[in-house]
Amino acid sequence: MIAAGYGIYRSLKSWAVPNQSRQMGNQDRDQIEDVMVKDPVCQVYLPQREGHMWRYKGDTFYFCSTECLEKFKKEKTG
Ligand SMILES: [Zn+2]
Repeated sequence: MIAAGYGIYRSLKSWAVPNQSRQMGNQDRDQIEDVMVKDPVCQVYLPQREGHMWRYKGDTFYFCSTECLEKFKKEKTG
């Protein structure tokens, strides 16, 4: 009886695992993109995907907030 119960448990588990990994697809992608970048205004490190991006003369900058972005923009462009 115990062995039969375990067999059902295992078959349920093997059914659940692929379903679970499908749901975790987004998390896996986030981990790959989780590169730390430095805010050149307030010198804070933040995940690239959460930063506010600004491209200027071939360089890409990331900021913790739009305030920092605007401040940097003014310094660069006047
Ligand atoms: Zn900042």
